[in-house]
Amino acid sequence: MMLMPPFTLHHPGSIEQAVSIASDLMSKGEEFDWVAGGTDVLPNYKWRINPKPHVISLAKIPEANQVTPYEIGCMTKLSTLKEENGIHPLIAEAASKIASSLIRKSATVGGNLCLDTRCFWYNQSEDWRRSIDWCHKADCGTGADCRVIPNQNTLCVATYQGDLAPNFMALGAQVTLIGPEGERTIALSEFYQLDGMKKNVLLPGEFMLKVTLPKDSFDYTGSYQKLRVRESWDFPEAGVSAVWKKGDYSTLRIASTALESIPKTHEEQVSPLAAAWQKGTSLSELSDAVRKSVKPVNNTALPPNYRKSVVRILTKRALKNIGCE
Ligand SMILES: Cc1cc2nc3c(=O)[nH]c(=O)nc-3n(C[C@H](O)[C@H](O)[C@H](O)COP(=O)(O)OP(=O)(O)OC[C@H]3O[C@@H](n4cnc5c(N)ncnc54)[C@H](O)[C@@H]3O)c2cc1C
Ligand code: SF4
Repeated sequence: MMLMPPFTLHHPGSIEQAVSIASDLMSKGEEFDWVAGGTDVLPNYKWRINPKPHVISLAKIPEANQVTPYEIGCMTKLSTLKEENGIHPLIAEAASKIASSLIRKSATVGGNLCLDTRCFWYNQSEDWRRSIDWCHKADCGTGADCRVIPNQNTLCVATYQGDLAPNFMALGAQVTLIGPEGERTIALSEFYQLDGMKKNVLLPGEFMLKVTLPKDSFDYTGSYQKLRVRESWDFPEAGVSAVWKKGDYSTLRIASTALESIPKTHEEQVSPLAAAWQKGTSLSELSDAVRKSVKPVNNTALPPNYRKSVVRILTKRALKNIGCE
């Protein structure tokens, strides 16, 4: 049986309290994690994957629980992301494909967007990782090398496998981050960082408060296509989101996930083809261009070449689903 390691749980009731607890712990040199639904970070703790002595819950912060069609607080449960609650149909579709219905009742938007990267050399029990002499994401101190791309030594190529990010990115969402240095709002597409250890641009003591969709986001029709081993609850092995204002090729956007350490947009591949769309041929060319632009590595359940080849099919399906042919 995997027992939870001991930690002190903090329950701030406001943004100010959360920031003050974080600042206080940092000034004492104490490490901590934010916790939202806990569906990822707490199982990781049980596996002794980077557990911290302090955990700060965002559950009781009123602003984090607010949700409107355009502003979604970080503590919003995935199970409430439904069209009948005024949520964008693409976000509702993507949320319905995450994990299982039970997990979606606890899992949150902020936790999904800030999800840790994953790797089959890392998401294992402590004993298992010790038996292979660690890797540098979990045990920098030992000097262990990366198991996936050895001899490069600084970068971790663990895979980001969150489903919501490419969909929010395709819709042009922004995120509000808040911490000891104050508040800032950035495009979600600028939030992620290529290193699987650093993951994103959050500063020490900073957390994601909410996601904001642009005013014209409901003019966009979208489709999210996901490859996973078991439809019932598995993480994406590849995911492609496509959106456009129906009939207007200049508004076409594509974003992908679960293929690298970051989810990413594909403006470079979309723009030239969207500018001179040829019915019949452009769809194939674009799907192939997106496939060529991703570089999955061998650290998830399915082989990287297979995941890469499926990207072409997922892109085609997503485009056809939104009527872009
Ligand atoms: C069996 C199983 C299947 C799963 N399948 C999927 C899947 O198909 N697709 C998918 O996307 N995910 C999947 N997950 C992962 C996870 O359940 C979801 O991503 C979930 O949305 C995470 O949200 P949470 O609130 O539980 O996050 P938590 O576990 O609370 O936190 C996750 C991480 O984000 C950080 N964090 C949380 N909130 C914030 C915030 N507001 N600001 C800054 N940092 C924050 C935490 O410190 C932690 O590092 C699966 C998990 C399990 C156990
Ligand atoms: S990609 Fe390398 S460093 Fe990162 S978790 Fe996997 S084995 Fe470890």
